[in-house]
Amino acid sequence: MTPILVIDPGHGGIDPGGGSNQLFTEKEKNLQISLYQYSRFQTLNIPVAITRTGDTTLTSDDRATLVRNSGARYCISNHVNAGGGRGAEVIYSIYSSPTFPRLILDDLEAEGMPGRRIFTRTLPNNPSKDYYFMHRETGSVETVIIEYGFADNPLDAEKLDRDWRELAEGVVRSFCEYTNRPYKPPTQTNPGDGGGANVPEWKQEAIDWMFKEGLLTNEDWRHEPDKPLPLWAEAVILKRLYEKLRTP
Ligand SMILES: [Zn+2]
Repeated sequence: MTPILVIDPGHGGIDPGGGSNQLFTEKEKNLQISLYQYSRFQTLNIPVAITRTGDTTLTSDDRATLVRNSGARYCISNHVNAGGGRGAEVIYSIYSSPTFPRLILDDLEAEGMPGRRIFTRTLPNNPSKDYYFMHRETGSVETVIIEYGFADNPLDAEKLDRDWRELAEGVVRSFCEYTNRPYKPPTQTNPGDGGGANVPEWKQEAIDWMFKEGLLTNEDWRHEPDKPLPLWAEAVILKRLYEKLRTP
């Protein structure tokens, strides 16, 4: 199915990204957020694609080409900022409207991350061209670059480390709102339903490890230790593990 949305975890592979600190590297945080959103959009039946599912190196060209050729109308490029500042920023193309960026910033604020600003930026020598290649080279796709917070700000860093799921979910919600698609929050712990009650610690520890490593991202399954996974999910886990092991 042609995706309507492409999620782009910024950086990856040999490029760790500048928004790193002692708690995380930017490429990992971007991927964590992106895989979560990827799985959430699938749950919400929104056709979605992703530019990388593992620690892959992508050139600017590879990345823009993937987005441009995806057939999608929208692209969310996930990043973590650095350089002294506080809060979230959303950067959009000079050729698109601030509506979606504004919704995103509002939802990130609702999840407890201060909204710093939304803005556009042009090439210094050509005011008719976007500064960022993800805007300039992705054709007619409406691409937003989200900087979830500053890695070098202790408050942002802690928030990103602890509440990245909530922030990622805020963006899922704003996309549904913007594109008029029904939104349903992720299902909460439902003890008894999937065997979530009285789970021995060693079982839950192993499950939590899979989420921490980004091997499993669908939160609905975290509290269903005794339910079998569909074959495709097992395949995704093995594929992610394989990609993880293959890239040094
Ligand atoms: Zn970045």
